[in-house]
Amino acid sequence: MRITRLVCSNCGSILSGLGRDRLFFCSNCGSGWSNGDKGLEPLEIQCRASADSSLPLPFWMVKATTHVLKRTVRNEFTTTMLRFGSSYEEDVLAKKKSETGGLAEKRTFLFPAFPVDGLPGIGVNLSEHISNLPPVVESGNSLPDICGGSISPMDAAVLARCVAVGQETEKADWIAEIEIVLSSVKTAIVILPCFLEVEKVFIAETGVAFFRRSTPEWDGIVDYYSRRT
Ligand SMILES: [Zn+2]
Repeated sequence: MRITRLVCSNCGSILSGLGRDRLFFCSNCGSGWSNGDKGLEPLEIQCRASADSSLPLPFWMVKATTHVLKRTVRNEFTTTMLRFGSSYEEDVLAKKKSETGGLAEKRTFLFPAFPVDGLPGIGVNLSEHISNLPPVVESGNSLPDICGGSISPMDAAVLARCVAVGQETEKADWIAEIEIVLSSVKTAIVILPCFLEVEKVFIAETGVAFFRRSTPEWDGIVDYYSRRT
């Protein structure tokens, strides 16, 4: 077993979080750390929640060149199903498709850095609202204490691809096959002020929300913030 001392390598403050947390934010100096195989490694941080935010939560912002290598769409999918009933005839269906691909574009993905059911779908919605995020808190201001960041930078890159696939399947056509790879992946943690309204957790001013019961760590997160005040 390897033990990592959770101390900010920049200013020496003690870092805290929940038992499964892998991402740590120093509320004293504003630096971020990921607890990886080689100990604490620096993380890029954008803090967009003030110190008095009651529910600041960590999100991954992943910038990547998204290559849609192949995108196959079925034509007349519905009529084909009606015409051929439940039998699947590959040779007939094979003629009724069109293929595009070779598209490469820079995309920015935003999604929770903690497990939530339906995370890729939340990421598809949240990524559309990146321009609505609150401003970055300037250095020199007091910063919030956060917890809950348990998705590693490597897993974040995998999840960013899931969000990209989600964006493609949301398009209004009969997608049959998709092949996507990401390159030049850059990750950063964005801390956003969240608000609890009855059963739902709203993410900053984006209008995007998730049910608190879909977050396995929810009780721990609430406990952490209530102990802090
Ligand atoms: Zn520090």
